[in-house]
Amino acid sequence: MPIGVLALQGDFDAHRRRLEELGAEVVLVKKPEQLDAIDGLVIPGGESGTFLKLLGEEGFEKLKQFVRLKPTFGTCAGAILLATEVENPKQQGLGALDIRIRRNAYGRQIDSSIREGKFGDSHLEMVFIRAPKIERVGPGVEVIATEGVDPVAVRQGRVMAATFHPELSEDKRVHRAFLDMVGKDKK
Ligand code: GLN
Repeated sequence: MPIGVLALQGDFDAHRRRLEELGAEVVLVKKPEQLDAIDGLVIPGGESGTFLKLLGEEGFEKLKQFVRLKPTFGTCAGAILLATEVENPKQQGLGALDIRIRRNAYGRQIDSSIREGKFGDSHLEMVFIRAPKIERVGPGVEVIATEGVDPVAVRQGRVMAATFHPELSEDKRVHRAFLDMVGKDKK
């Protein structure tokens, strides 16, 4: 069950380490054709506009097909890429999650912080770095984590996204939930 981590830019290595700690076989994805050989994909944080540039039109189309068929988990910039609607500024999305997301939504003073939120029924440390905010959640989208009143992790079908960085906290539950989803999808 090889899991890919999109490794064009951003903090892909922290995801690789976390997934390996959980026993996954990890492939660092740098070329579109590598998507054919994996069962799930993590799109890490970074700068979503830069991801779009590096992907190019062909990479974007290939990724769009992948996220329609296979489990994908996006964090921060990855969540922005997966959305149907992106604001501040408007930007192309893969359309895999019916959400509207606003980039850099917390302003300069609190642009990075560690806060405590809720994942299911329990508390979870959440690291936010120039985080986006999910402003609208479509009817088919399940909120799986909140911070205050804000949804900060969502799931729609095989696609999951978080506006924080679970790969930077000790807690492994979020990545475990993703691997469980990949495992179920394989059956
Ligand atoms: N601010 C970045 C963006 O808009 C996301 C930040 C991150 O991934 N840590 O793409």
